This record gives sequence, structure tokens and C-alpha cells, in this order.
Amino acid sequence: MKMFQSHMIVLIAGLLALQMAVVCAVLRRSQGMEPSGLTSWALGDLVAALAAAMPALAEIAGYWLAADAVDMALFSGISLMVVGTRHFAGRPGRASMLAVVNLILGAAIAAGTWLPHADWLQALRPWLPAALGFGQALLLLDIVRSIVPLLSQKRGTGRFAALSLVLIAAGCAGLNAWNLSGSIAQPGVPGPLAQDGSMVVLNVFAVVGLSVSFALMAHDRLRRMLERKASHDDLTGLLARGAFWQQLEEAGTQADRNGKPLTVAFVDLDHFKAINDVYGHLAGDSVLRHFAGLLRKTVGPQDIIGRLGGEEFAIVMPETTLERGRATSLRLGSAVRNTPCPSEPDAIAYTISIGMAQREPTETVENLMRRADQALYDAKHAGRNCVSLHRAGKPWHGTSAGESAPWQRRATS
Ligand code: GH3
Ligand code: MG
Ligand code: MG
Repeated sequence: MKMFQSHMIVLIAGLLALQMAVVCAVLRRSQGMEPSGLTSWALGDLVAALAAAMPALAEIAGYWLAADAVDMALFSGISLMVVGTRHFAGRPGRASMLAVVNLILGAAIAAGTWLPHADWLQALRPWLPAALGFGQALLLLDIVRSIVPLLSQKRGTGRFAALSLVLIAAGCAGLNAWNLSGSIAQPGVPGPLAQDGSMVVLNVFAVVGLSVSFALMAHDRLRRMLERKASHDDLTGLLARGAFWQQLEEAGTQADRNGKPLTVAFVDLDHFKAINDVYGHLAGDSVLRHFAGLLRKTVGPQDIIGRLGGEEFAIVMPETTLERGRATSLRLGSAVRNTPCPSEPDAIAYTISIGMAQREPTETVENLMRRADQALYDAKHAGRNCVSLHRAGKPWHGTSAGESAPWQRRATS
């Protein structure tokens, strides 16, 4: 490759790196409080863009740059990306250690250039490209190590982006290592890919490719976070009303399709207003979170749980008859009674009332929920702290509260 062409390609790669710095910086602004590592990646891209501009600068303005400055700048850029990736993956950082390594290598290169009479430094110089190449390969492998565990957690775009990031990083580490083998064999002589500047071109393009993958991964995380925020309740982390109804509709359609039973439970905390009045709203919030925790532990893996508003919750139990659903509700009721919400100075004891109904063939989910709500009304009328069942075809007033009573005798509210 002719030097001029090589510089042009490096410059183009540098411009792309600059663009990726802007993309990462813009994405970082929308990322909110989440630790994303995008700032480090934006800085890393900036440094890589600078590295790409160096050979052209040296050509235009004379060789005033240290011989290994380009490799050093790339090493620093990739170091920043390592820090960002560790941040993203939640691995404890090694930022200060990397900063020290960068300072030592940078100082060695500068001293080697500007102190030509220091013999020991000059003896060291031929080894610097090998040290930088080796360091770059290690850094790229560290990026691979951060991302590989995330592969199993991600789906769709996120997994595709993570996979491409791993492949580019591993491939580039391999090329650096191969090039390195040449410079180790003959210190002072650039490796096979470094002789015509190809290694710089490859490294800068790899940095751009890595940044595109990382930005896609960060964007995927942001999208999922926003989707989760929109569909889940902030306080309890359970499904919010809209998402709950959507999943309930889907469960209804599924029940029609497979002819399996579908049962719903409407749950309401008893005398919750009094809990707020006595202990305060913050303690009331803790009780809601505490109850959501018990709910999660009690229901089955395919059950759908949501907070419909205030202190009202609901459970959708696919492929479950009213009798089996009742057993779950009774377990939930006793879990609540046996596990008061931890609080200072005393734990807060509370109870719940539950109304249940099983879907009739072709019944709309709205009607099903209406019947469960009527059963809840019964449970409240029957003195709270109990489960009421609404049987289809029966008038609901006063018919179902008596079915529930096992823990009503021990009512504490
Ligand atoms: P019942 O046994 O009949 O259900 O009585 P209740 O006091 O539980 O029901 P009511 O509907 O009278 O009161 C519900 C209270 O829940 C009123 C409201 O201030 C409170 N509330 C609603 N949302 C929240 C919340 O997010 N946090 C807290 N702390 N309180 C809430
Ligand atoms: Mg209530
Ligand atoms: Mg209520």
C-alpha cells in the first residue's frame, strides 16, 4: 500500500471514529443516570481519531511526532474503551491501573524521542512497539471478557451487537498478536502488518467497528430500560395497569386457543388508608413493596402479576382452575399474615382481601375481571382478610364470601 493512500484511509477511519465519538456522546445524554460507559467510549473514539490524524500530520509538518505516538494513542483510546466496557458490564474498574500503564508507556516513548543520548532508553526503544502491540491485544481480550457473560442475557439487537463486538475485538486481538510475533522475532523491525501502516488502518477501523457495536448495545439497553419503565410500576416493579391488561388479553386469547382454564384474582390491602394515617405515606409505600415481594414469591412461574393502582393488585393464573387458584390465594393470605412488613420501631402487620373468578368459555376478560372485582367486594363485606370466589351464572351478592373462610377466623385487622 502506498503511504499516501494508506494515510487517506487512516484519515477516513479517523473521521468515522470522530463520528462515533459524537454518537456515543449523544447517546450518553439520553442514557439518564444509568452507568453506561458511553463517556469513556466517546473519549476513546476521540483519541483514536487523533491517532488516525497523526501519520498525516507527521507527513505535512515534518516528523515531529514520536515514532510510536500513533500506536500509543491507539493504546490509550482502547484503554478508555476497556474502562467504558467494564462500566457497562458492571465489572469492577481497573481505571487507575490502566492510567498508570498509559503514563509509563507514554513517558518511555517521549523520553526515547527527546533524550537520544540516554543509552538505556535507546536500548529499550525497539521493544516499545512490541509492548504496545501486546498491550493492545490484552486490552481487546479484556473487552471480550467483559461482554461474553452478557451474551446469554441479551436478545435480538442487543445480542447481535454484543456478538459482533466480541468477534471484532477477538479478531483484532488476533491480528495484533500475529503482527507482534514479527516484531518479537526482530526487535526494532515493525511486524508484518505494521510495515506499510496496515496495522494502524486495521486498528482504527476495528475501533470504529467496536464503537458501532457498543453504541448499538447501549441503545438496546436504553430502549429496554424505557420499555420497562413504561410497562412496570415504579414503586413495586410489578406490571403497571396498561401492560397488565395487555397480558391479560393475551392470556384470554391463549385460553381460547388451547381450551385450558384461566383464573384471575383481584387483591386489595385491607384498611390501607389507616396504615398511611398511622405510620405515614413512606411506611405505606414500604408495605406496598413488601406485599409485591410476597406476591412474587407466592405465585407460579407462568402467573402474571400487576399493580392496578393504589393498593390494588391482580393475578392472572393461566391453565389454572378456580380451586387451584384458591389454594395460591390462601397461601398468599397466610404469607401476608405471617410476615409483617419490617419497620421501625415495630413491624407493620396487615391483611389482604382477594376476589377470584374463573373464565367461562368465550367470556371477555373485562367481564372476568368484573366478576373477580365483585368477589372482592364480597370479601370486604364478609369482614376482609379472606378469599371470595365468584362462580359464573350465580348472582354475586352475598353468595361467595362464605366459601373462603379458613383464615377469616384468625383475622387480625
Ligand atoms: P379497604 O379495606 O376497604 O380496602 O380500605 P382501604 O383503606 O384499604 O381503602 P381506601 O380505598 O379507602 O384507601 C386506599 C388508600 O391507599 C388511599 C390512598 O391514600 C392510599 N394509596 C394509594 N396509592 C398509594 C401509594 O402509592 N402509596 C401510599 N402510601 N398510599 C397509597
Ligand atoms: Mg384497600
Ligand atoms: Mg382499594
